Amino acid sequence: MSINTPLLNGMLRKEKAFRDEIEWNQVNVMSFASRLARGGTLEQLLGDEHMQKYRQSLKEITHENVVNGRQVTAYMRALQHLAHDHDGRPNDGHHNNNNNNNNNVMDEDEVQAKLETAVKNERQKIDTNSIEITQETPYLELCKELGERQGNEDDEIAVVNNNMDEVALKCPLTAVLMEDPVKNKFCGHSYSREAIMNHIRFSGGRKKCVCPVAGCTNRTVDESQLEEDKLTETLVRRYKKRQQLSQKSQHSALDLDEEEDDDDE
Ligand SMILES: [Zn+2]
Repeated sequence: MSINTPLLNGMLRKEKAFRDEIEWNQVNVMSFASRLARGGTLEQLLGDEHMQKYRQSLKEITHENVVNGRQVTAYMRALQHLAHDHDGRPNDGHHNNNNNNNNNVMDEDEVQAKLETAVKNERQKIDTNSIEITQETPYLELCKELGERQGNEDDEIAVVNNNMDEVALKCPLTAVLMEDPVKNKFCGHSYSREAIMNHIRFSGGRKKCVCPVAGCTNRTVDESQLEEDKLTETLVRRYKKRQQLSQKSQHSALDLDEEEDDDDE
């Protein structure tokens, strides 16, 4: 069984295009930022309140660009590993009925399954090695362009972002942060996998049921509409990590205070 190289190359090209798109997106953000800088002419025209809103939007877009950039990097690394690992190596078990059959090329589903695992691994590596998004170069450059310094204001922004994220990242069924999120291809809403599966199962014994999101008109929810929601999964993981980090930094601040007290005694 050999890896489907044209398929992998096609996927890699797609990810590169996506990365270019993210970079271009950030270029545009920076061009806006230069006009929204503190003390600029637009500030006098629009007033501080509006300026704050626009600056905040640019920060949110940059935040998202960094998150998406990490995801693309994970994909590209996973694809490269897959291509590399399977270069001329025999298959590792499942289809060992005929190892000499080199014409037996993995189909798309098999590649997808392998890719998913590889992406998860890469993503984990990136997440453990990454710094806070507000410390990443694009974010710092944006703040600089806006004429802001990293400081108290950014702490406030982080809190605002946290609250916004938290609402969006909660499952409409369980009302807690999503676990193993799936997205409804039909209406675009996300849920925790187990919760929506139970919801479908217990929906009055009928096969199809109503989307649990208030106001959603999708009344034909079934398992076939659900797909893995990697973006939400990533955002939940980042959100939890951010929470941990901010708790840790609060703790360490307390620890420092205590140490200082000890020194005084
Ligand atoms: Zn819906």
